Amino acid sequence: MKKKKKGTAQKTCDCSELADWIALYIENEAPSEMRKEIILHLQTCRSCATFVRTLRRTIAYCQIETDWDLPADAHDRLWQRLKDILTTED
Ligand SMILES: [Zn+2]
Repeated sequence: MKKKKKGTAQKTCDCSELADWIALYIENEAPSEMRKEIILHLQTCRSCATFVRTLRRTIAYCQIETDWDLPADAHDRLWQRLKDILTTED
């Protein structure tokens, strides 16, 4: 009988786990421990690194473009949407 061997993971954390943190990270609200984990992951995971870069650009663009006030729940919905996108992406 063969034992099921688990592949040794090189990554520090899951991409899906990171999705919850990225919102905090981008808003500079992540604790330093969390930041370290995120930065480490971004160095090993190209898709997350690209995602963060795109997200930052999008947010910067939104902040420039929107003179009108965004309702608080729209902000929450935006983050939820972005998290969904990240967690469903492989
Ligand atoms: Zn990742």
